[in-house]
Amino acid sequence: MIMSYTNQPTSTVPAGHGKAVRLKAGEAVRVINTHGTQVVDCWAWNAYDLNEYMCMETTRVWNQRLNPVVGDSFVTNQRHPVLTVVEDTTPGVHDTFMAACDRKRYELLGVRGYHRNCCDNMFEGMFELGVTPPRQNLASFNIFMNIRVQPDGITLHTLPTVTKPGEFITLRAEMDCFVAFSACPQDIVKIQGQGDNTPKPVDIVVLDDFESDLQGTHSWVPLA
Ligand SMILES: [Zn+2]
Repeated sequence: MIMSYTNQPTSTVPAGHGKAVRLKAGEAVRVINTHGTQVVDCWAWNAYDLNEYMCMETTRVWNQRLNPVVGDSFVTNQRHPVLTVVEDTTPGVHDTFMAACDRKRYELLGVRGYHRNCCDNMFEGMFELGVTPPRQNLASFNIFMNIRVQPDGITLHTLPTVTKPGEFITLRAEMDCFVAFSACPQDIVKIQGQGDNTPKPVDIVVLDDFESDLQGTHSWVPLA
């Protein structure tokens, strides 16, 4: 694979918090699972139209896969490619099914009072850039999250992440876009890895002029 790029400074998404970046088309962002145990929720928007957002439903149609693999593109609710997976050093276990955690989720889990959550973290990250997403509760790409379809074909099983320290995934922008991340604050349901369900920080780094021979995918169409 041909790749070349220059790194911008690495920034940390603090444990249980959110951070966002603005990418130009052709730039990429690498999400590093520093401790190997952390699930990271991710959202993206067209930088010029926040009503066009990365959409898990249209992405599953596009790729005909539950989880993206290297070379797969994510598309928006208008079916335009927005991000492409160009590197993934993890075992490739991610999730596009589970709703991002929100305040109500923790209420339902028995938490009294405020609990940090991914939906609020999405806004926290975007507010730092001076941008207000028009919708809440957008479906997220749950990086490093381990949701397994059971042998009956319909039941899902929520498991700890299988990622190891330092493993990463890199997402290339296919359009100018905002990308938000939440280092998921979940500390009740055991989704964080290696027997330690404590939320941890992760690192993100923007890669300028990311060149790769991966072209991204075209929409799946049935064979005639
Ligand atoms: Zn979460």
